[in-house]
Order: sequence, then C-alpha cells, then structure tokens
Amino acid sequence: MPRYIGLIGYPVKYSISPFFQQAALDYYELDICYQAWETLPGELEETVSRLRHPQNLGANVTVPYKESVLPLLDEIDEVASLIGAVNTIVKRDDRLAGFNTDAHGFIQALREQGNFEPESKEAVILGAGGAARAVSFALMQKKAASLTILNRTLERAEALADSLRSCQASTRLETKIVVLPWSTVNMPGTFEHCHLVVNCTTIGMKHSPEEGKSPLSLETIPSTALVYDLIYNPWPTPLLHLAQRAGANILGGLPMLVYQGVASFELWTQRKAPVDIMLKKAEEVLERC
Ligand code: NAP
Repeated sequence: MPRYIGLIGYPVKYSISPFFQQAALDYYELDICYQAWETLPGELEETVSRLRHPQNLGANVTVPYKESVLPLLDEIDEVASLIGAVNTIVKRDDRLAGFNTDAHGFIQALREQGNFEPESKEAVILGAGGAARAVSFALMQKKAASLTILNRTLERAEALADSLRSCQASTRLETKIVVLPWSTVNMPGTFEHCHLVVNCTTIGMKHSPEEGKSPLSLETIPSTALVYDLIYNPWPTPLLHLAQRAGANILGGLPMLVYQGVASFELWTQRKAPVDIMLKKAEEVLERC
C-alpha cells in the first residue's frame, strides 16, 4: 500500500516542492507519494487530523498555516517553538511532531551558494512574517552583529523584535535588534554599514498582487551588500534584477527552498537526501513555470 506525504497550504498549485520531493523519494524507490493538499482556511484542522491515518507519514506546511498549525500538533521541536512557525510535520508513534527547516535551509543556502558567513555581519530584514521569523532567529543564532527589521505593519516587526530579545535573555546571543518603520525602506541611511539585505516579503512574487515590483529602488540598494531574495519565482526577481544593476551580489530563494526540503526529507525518511537530484529537478521545473 502506498504511503503519503502532503503539502498543506493555500494556494499550493504553484509550488514546486512536489516535484523535487518526489524525485528524491523515487531515487530511493520508496512507495511514497508526495501530494499537494490544497487546504482552505476552515479545513486546516481536518487536514491535519487526516495525517493520523496509517497511510500518511507527514507533511510540509506553507503559507498561510505555518503559525496556526502549532496548536494542532502533539509536540513542537525547540527551534520551531523559538521561531513560532512549523513547516514540517513528522508522524512518530502516532504523534504529530512539528519542526522548522526554513532556518536551516536559509543558512545552508547563504553559506553554500552565497558564500556568506553571517557571524559579526550587519543585516537588514524586509518583512516580519513566518519566513522573516525563521531568518531572524537563524541569523541571531549564527551571531550576526545586528538585525534591522522593517515591516509594513510596524506592530508585527516589534513583536518579532520582542521575541528575539526575549530569546537573548536566556542565551548568550548579543545581536543588536533595531526596528524601523516601513516608510524608511527607501532611505539610504537604512543600509549604512549593511552587509546583507534579505527580502522576506511577498513583493515581487509571481502570481501575487505585487508581481513585477521591488521593495527597494535602484538608488537605495547597497552595492557592497549581498541581496538575498527568498522569492524563487520569477528568477531573477525585480529586486535581484535591480541589485545586479547596482553592482551587489545576489542570491535567490531556490537553494533555500531545496535545502529546507532536504532537511524535511531526512526527517521523514531517515535517509540522506539526494541534494543534487533535488536541486536539478527544482531548476528544471522552475524553467517551465
Ligand atoms: P507571510 O507570513 O504571509 O508574510 C508576508 C510578509 O510580506 C509580511 O511581512 C507582509 O507585511 C509583507 N508584505 C506583503 N505584501 C506587502 C506589501 N504590499 N508591502 C509591504 N510588505 C508586504 O509569508 P512568509 O511565509 O513569511 O513568506 C514570505 C515570502 O518568503 C514569500 O514570498 C515566500 O514565498 C517566501 N519564502 C521562501 C522560502 C524559500 O524556501 N525560498 C521559504 C519561506 C518563504 P505585513 O506584516 O504588513 O502584512
């Protein structure tokens, strides 16, 4: 009898995760099918409870459920609970355990594809949603010198800063945390001394209302920084296109997507993920999108 792993989100029809996850499962000839489980907001509880059926092994969770899924699970791993978001569910002994592999995927891509070591570096984070939370905690754990957070909804940025500071109170981490209003996003002073800019907003994402737009203007982009856009479709995003013109180094969201998927695959299957096969399949599928 085949077993299943699902992708829970809304919408999920544009996701490329089913393609590269299936390629990895097929590489090991596992009788497991990775499916997109499009879930309307009122259906989340039912979809998660279906995971308890014997044929289901686990799931990925994507926008907009990474935070709201937490109370539906039996246990939450320490990293996911610090971040406050789950993107991977694993069924173990009939219990549903939540993990967050976005933080790992973000750092892995930053180091391996961006050639960037975050320790002692100054970073600007655009956004304060689930992805920004994972990115900010990851950079703080890797001892970034400072994080400046800008978000359209100021309260959300302040809530993220509060969580980061309260985590610092119980650890030896000393990253300086600053919140600025979104109105300063195109002021050059915002990026003074900045080594890394990470776009964690949906601005520029294909099929979104902000398709074709960049959160930063050409004049504001610091030419000496690495500009990392978590969005993987289109390639390059409008922000990365401008960053290239500004002379900055750039990194797109595809490697992070694959590396977070690699960590999820290893949690579900306890096998080493075939990273090259997954990356190749992701690139191939994206070209057709
Ligand atoms: P989310 O929780 O819905 O957060 C969306 C963020 O975008 C919020 O900060 C929101 O600000 C901001 N935003 C949306 N429209 C805006 C606008 N018109 N002007 C200014 N800010 C705007 O989503 P998420 O899960 O954090 O994902 C964010 C992005 O990261 C998405 O594009 C997603 O595809 C990408 N992502 C990529 C990976 C990867 O592996 N490459 C992983 C995770 C996420 P408000 O708080 O004011 O609404």
